[in-house]
Amino acid sequence: MKNLGLYIHIPFCVKKCNYCDFYSLGCPSHENTEEYVRALCTHIGREGKKHRDKIVDTVFIGGGTPSVLSENSIKSLITCLKSSFNIAEDAEISIEVNPGTVTKEKAMLYRSLGINRVSMGLQSVNDNELKMLGRIHTFDEFKSSYKALRDGGIDNINIDIMYALPNQKTADLIKTVDSVCEFEPSHISAYCLKIEENTHFYKIKDTLCLPDEDEQYNMYLTLCDRLEKMGYEQYEISNFAKKGSRCVHNLKYWLSCEYLAFGPSAHSFVDGVRYSYKGDIKEYVGAIKSGQEPNKILEAEYTLTEEEKIDEYVMLRMRLADGVDTEKFFSRFGISFIDRYPKLKKYEKDGYVIHQNGKYAFTKKGFFVSNFILSDILENI
Ligand code: SF4
Repeated sequence: MKNLGLYIHIPFCVKKCNYCDFYSLGCPSHENTEEYVRALCTHIGREGKKHRDKIVDTVFIGGGTPSVLSENSIKSLITCLKSSFNIAEDAEISIEVNPGTVTKEKAMLYRSLGINRVSMGLQSVNDNELKMLGRIHTFDEFKSSYKALRDGGIDNINIDIMYALPNQKTADLIKTVDSVCEFEPSHISAYCLKIEENTHFYKIKDTLCLPDEDEQYNMYLTLCDRLEKMGYEQYEISNFAKKGSRCVHNLKYWLSCEYLAFGPSAHSFVDGVRYSYKGDIKEYVGAIKSGQEPNKILEAEYTLTEEEKIDEYVMLRMRLADGVDTEKFFSRFGISFIDRYPKLKKYEKDGYVIHQNGKYAFTKKGFFVSNFILSDILENI
């Protein structure tokens, strides 16, 4: 039986953060969230019938802020997932939460439903930085929520942090990294702030004092080194895990494994086809309620050509610290990796890429500029 991952998008947040361009709506009403979960369950039930031949080994309930859902809604959602798909007994089931939206009781409920991994957005331990980012919580509120998760029996926890924030210095980042490590989460994700269109930060971008590229590079190296010293292995550009705690669901994205997604703006990759739904909750709920086929609410659908599959394989695998195994590449595509991407030799000479044990992978310095290098090596193929 083939394995499958499931992603469930919960597009609600208490309020929109200043930097966020994910599809999510602030200030949801109880009626809206309940109606949305009913539509999701209808959709999940319909799609489940088409994938009875697969074993679901990961579920990721992301957003948005899934922890804004009521206890009844989360129960209905998990019950529906379990009755619609063959979910493996040892499946990794993750949920994203934000400080201030979880209690010990909620954590206990998650655990009783089989949720065994929680990802919490902290971003910074500095209350001024949190305020500037438009987060809904202080560092103290994070501490209470983290304790509630632990007291509720959740021991596999990821904490998200961000760097390269306006006015941030490396010393500020060190404070965040060191404080986060004191909680001993099993996993830490560290993202560089990007100013995206359709965000509040984009509107005021000319007034933001962002660290320059050298400072950003210094921050990235500092956080990688510090996390490594604290026992977190970097297994992807932005992801660090204690031994045995890599996020299996997210690895599916980078290893081109299959995943099926539900909700507005959610992206799927099934049977060689990539597709996504429109980022419009009204349209999504309306279409599902009126029994329309999901293809009516698609934003994009695309089957990769053979050539695109090769480049995508490289783009995704090079995000991983393991990089590309040249023998596996050859047996999968029947061509030599370095013959196809000869420019990598130049980057290897300059210390951005390392070639060892039959694998090509980015060094830390290479990770920092990996977007640039990948677009260079994939150009004109
Ligand atoms: S809580 Fe997360 S998803 Fe919601 S607005 Fe903030 S960054 Fe975006």
